[in-house]
Order: sequence, then structure tokens, then C-alpha cells
Amino acid sequence: MTINSKIMSHADIEWQDGLPYSKQFQDIYFSRQDGLEETHYTFIEGNHLKERWSLSNSSDFRILEVGFGTGLNCLSTIDHWQSFNKDSWLHYHSIEKFPLKRDDLLRALSFWPSLKNLMETLISQYPMPLYGVTEIIFPDHRATLYLHFMDVIEACDHLILENQQFNSFYLDGFAPSKNPDTWSEVLFKKIAQLSATDAHFATFSAAGYVRRGLQKYGFKVNKRSGFGTKREMLIGSIKTPKVDCESVSMNTTKPWFQRPESIAEEARIAVIGSGIAGATTALMLANDGYQVEVFESKNEIAAGGSGSASGIFYPFLTKDFNDQSLLFFHAYQKLIHWLDRLELAEYTKNIGVLKLHKDAQFNTQLFNQLGDSNDFDSWLRQWPEASSSGLTYPLLKQGILFPRSGYVDLKRLCEKLLDHPKIEVRLNSRVERLDDFSHGWKLEVNNDVENFDAVVICNAYSAHELLPKSFLPGNKVRGQTAKLSIPKDFPKPPYILCESNYCIPMEDSLYVGATFELNNHNENFDAKSHQELVENLNVLFEDATFSVEQAEPGRVGFRHCSVDRLPYVGPLPKFEQTLLDYQHLWKGNQRVKHPSAQYWPALYVNIAHGARGITTSFLAAELVLNYINGDSFAVSPSIREQLHPSRPLIRELRKPKNQRLP
Ligand code: SAM
Repeated sequence: MTINSKIMSHADIEWQDGLPYSKQFQDIYFSRQDGLEETHYTFIEGNHLKERWSLSNSSDFRILEVGFGTGLNCLSTIDHWQSFNKDSWLHYHSIEKFPLKRDDLLRALSFWPSLKNLMETLISQYPMPLYGVTEIIFPDHRATLYLHFMDVIEACDHLILENQQFNSFYLDGFAPSKNPDTWSEVLFKKIAQLSATDAHFATFSAAGYVRRGLQKYGFKVNKRSGFGTKREMLIGSIKTPKVDCESVSMNTTKPWFQRPESIAEEARIAVIGSGIAGATTALMLANDGYQVEVFESKNEIAAGGSGSASGIFYPFLTKDFNDQSLLFFHAYQKLIHWLDRLELAEYTKNIGVLKLHKDAQFNTQLFNQLGDSNDFDSWLRQWPEASSSGLTYPLLKQGILFPRSGYVDLKRLCEKLLDHPKIEVRLNSRVERLDDFSHGWKLEVNNDVENFDAVVICNAYSAHELLPKSFLPGNKVRGQTAKLSIPKDFPKPPYILCESNYCIPMEDSLYVGATFELNNHNENFDAKSHQELVENLNVLFEDATFSVEQAEPGRVGFRHCSVDRLPYVGPLPKFEQTLLDYQHLWKGNQRVKHPSAQYWPALYVNIAHGARGITTSFLAAELVLNYINGDSFAVSPSIREQLHPSRPLIRELRKPKNQRLP
């Protein structure tokens, strides 16, 4: 058991004759006779997948599995899917409360040489054991796995609230007698709610109450012979499912964060701003088939806060591993995978980031929360390490080493991301005004008016000049950097060091940044800021004696920081309507039925990434895409809510009237 609910307990398994066996549930993951055959017979045939796939036109197909386990059902299904429906996509959702350790997963799947390629993709992106959703794409097989690390009931609630519907279900918890949580009547009802028209299910179980439970909620259920030594199993289908949200608990339902309607596939979308938020958003939209135009007021890409040639990335963690830490870890995981997937190595230097802490208890507390899983080791390690040779001076300090972190040439990266046939970048194109009309937005650009079906605002603090009345509190925070040649006898650190500032060891220089100045709006070099940087550098290197004269002035940039330091990502709420609709929230009465959120149609923001924009940008861009295309979200609701543009207003509305800000 872990002591933090955001960190999942691993499956407790032992190996019996080379096959995984759950000590916790006293059950096998798949048949000892032949797991692959069992998958094929029980789930693929049981759901009549091949017949249904060959009959169906080009529409996408959605499967929900209870119990990801070793991933055998998943990979085998994706493998079969590849030869069907060349124009459509498989969305495979799988729920797992006790994920296998990565090494165990590798060992279990290595048993099946025919699945080797798929296994490699899965293993390379298999997530850390963290609560939440991870999306793993198998592009050659036209399939996406959404791995939900959480309890089955919670995952189903999330999917119901997202209005997701599935064509097939694999009910594959351990035996009902050993694992009743995955066979409850509550679950059967949710399965029925999540069913598309003519959805099918299959399960190895033939238990009477499973049959009766599914029948009760509308499934026609049949028995057929089971696989191997199993006498019987159940299959069935449901014609016209009843879809409502009644069974979702009131605590989970938050109408003020409800997703808005999606945007048609052929839409033309304007993205305002070409920094990292705009560039990642444009890329995600373009990859999904949208036609995108990116408006940049300056004469070059990433001329604002993203103009740096050396932006660092690592996750921001608290010692109690709170919700924000979870968000940053998911975002960080996504960033690393996207940099890999897009083969962007030439823009990044993954030399590792060593984040130092003054608090001597930080590491003990954090690593206690993470438990004993070595699945975290490639992502973060305690500093000092046993083998910390090569780094002499900050050994007195404690910290966390993020071996996969580093720095990125942000400006070149943005240019590269925007180089896409479906993206047109419009430089020197300042959007002066936005006006909504019945089918989208009119943009006033360089004294011309242009129409778009949807708009995503990604231009940081300048967003306020364009947005309708809204409440997105934030600040413009100045950052100045400096550069120093490394003296001959000075031992260059092998990693980027971070304390109050960061120091990047480059070829023959140290790049130091960046100040964090709330009330300084000076756009030019500032001597006081320069001095602060050098002083902090001397503290970082304990007794170094760098002088101000040794340092060359670097760059000055401005970040857009929200009050809670998280970006605003998602649809923009109508301010007055939100105030009116949720005026009684402060009374805290959850029994009241609140109306659904009212947003400006087809208007989204992706702003206020502050000093952490590289880490959060890919997650944020995927989130914007999912709001727009209506697909399943690739992040959990708790992450969406932390980023939702309505959150500051909702927070205010929860306060008594006389203590509110707006
Ligand atoms: N389908 C898997 C495969 O292809 O390897 C085998 C699944 S195994 C029979 C059952 C799985 O259900 C286990 O991985 C177990 O950890 C998971 N499980 C048990 N209780 C659960 C719960 N309450 N919520 C989600 N998953 C659960």
C-alpha cells in the first residue's frame, strides 16, 4: 500500500511456471494453457469483433476493458485491428487499480513474440504508477490506448461525465469470488450507461449474478463454452442503452467545469500567439486534421517569453506530492514522450536537472510518498546519490536529480513545431479585436476582417486585450538572464543546477537565469537584476566568487503567471452568466441542481504558463485539442479542473459575498 492516494499500489505478483500470479487476489492473469488463445477466444470472438469490424463502415471503434493487467488483451486486440477498417481508429480504454511494475509487464509480455513491436511501444511509454490517465498511441496500428490508473467505478464515472460511449466491453477483473469490486451491480449499471447502440460485452465468468446484473440493465446475455478448462462464459449485447448521469455521485458532477460542444472536423481554427503554447496547440490541431492559422504580432516566431535559446524543463514537486505535483508529473511524462515521438532531440539537451532544496526533510518526505517502486528511478532520484562522482561542490546540499530533464532551444523548437502542411503562420499580424458571430469569430487583423470557426488564444498576458470580460487573475513577471565564461580551474557541473535560479553548463560558459520580478517592467538590461543573478550564482556554488563584471548581460523576457501558478487551459466561461448561475455556491449545498456551464462558443485559452511553460505545454495543447475534437480526455478530471479557466471565478463564488474579489 502507498500512503498517498495519488500514487498507485503496484500489483503484488509472483511467477508460477513463468506466468504472473496475483498474490493479493490469489488468481491468474490469463490462462495457463495459452493466454493469447484465451484472449482471442474469450474477448475478440466473444465480442464478434472481426465480423463487426468487417461490416462497419469507416467509423471509429471504442472498447472499454476492466482490468489492464499485463496488457495482453489490449495488445492482442490492437494487433488484430490493424488488418481491418483502414480509415478508422481504435480507442481502447483500459482500467487498472494495481498496475504491474514495468519489469513485470516486460517479463509477462515477452512471452508473446508476435506482439513484440506493440510491446516495445507500450513499454517505452508505460507510465509511472500515478493516479490518472495516460494516452499511448500506436500510430502504425491506428489505435490509442487510454490507460486509466484508478478504481474501475471512478474511471467509469469520469467516462460517463464525458459522454463517452463504447462499442465493446471486456469484463476481465479477477474471478468474481476473489475480486467482487470489479463485478458489482453498480458497475453493471455504469457499463450499460456507457454503451453505444448495439454494444457487446464478453467475460470469462459465467456467474449467475453477473448474468442477472447485466440483464437487469438491458443486456441480452448468452452462455457459450468457456476457454480451456472453463465450462462456460458469458457474452451479450444491448440494443438501446439508456444514457443518463443519474448514477454518478454529486461530488463528481461539477457542471461549472462541464465540457462544451466539440467543433466540426473541417473547421478552420485561428491560434493567436506563436510561443510554445501556440506552437504546441497549432501542432496538435493540425495533426488531428484541422486547418490552422497562427497569428503573430511580431516579425518572428516566439518573439515573447518563448524566445529563449535555453529554456529548462523539469516537474515542480512538493514534498507531500500534492495535486499540483501529480499534474506536473503527468505533464512532464507527456513532454518527454512528445519530444521522443516527434524526434526533437536536436533541439534539446537532456543533460539532467538537479533541483536543490533548503528543506532537509524534503527528500525523505517525498520519497516516502513514492514508495519503493523503481519505476520512478529513470525519472527522478534522490541527491546525493551513492555514485555522485564528478560533482563536487553542491554535495553538501540535498536535492532531486531529474535525469531526463535538460534545456531546449525554445525558439527553434517553436519554429519546428509550426512547420506543418496544415499550419499557416502569419507574422506581423496583430489581432486587434475578436467579435463573435453566429458561426464563429471575426478577427480584425491589420485593418482586415477574417472569419474563423474557432479561436484559441495563446498570447500570454496580451490575451486580456482580446478576451470578452473574464476573470483570469495573473501577473507579468520579468526575467533577466546572464552568461559567464567558465574560468579554467572551475569544475563544470554535469547537470543543470536549480535553486532560487538555475545555472546551465554550456560548452564553455554558464548560462544563469532567470530573475523573477513582479514589479519591474523594464524591458532593457537592469544592473540590479544582474547583480542579483551573480550573487545567487555564488550561493549556488557555495563559496564561488564570481563578480558582476565577469558576467555578460543575457536576455530580458516577461512571463505571464497566474495567481496559483498554473496555466489557464480550456473554454472561456461567460463571466456574467457564471456569476449568476453559481451565485449560491458559497452556501455549499451540493443537493442543488446547478445549470451547465455557459461558455463563449468556440473560444479557448491556453495562457499563463509562467516559468514552467515547456513542461506544461504539450499536456495543455492536448487538452485544448480534446475540448475541440470531443475525443476522450487524455488527462484525469482533477488535472482538467486545476487548469480550467473557470477555476478562479468558481473559487471566488465559494466565498461569502463580502469576501469576493470580482
Ligand atoms: N486483462 C488483463 C490482461 O490482459 O493481462 C488481465 C486482467 S486480470 C485478470 C484483472 C485485473 O483487474 C488485475 O490487473 C487487477 O489489478 C485489476 N483490478 C482488480 N481490482 C480492480 C479495481 N477495483 N479497479 C480496477 N482494476 C482492478
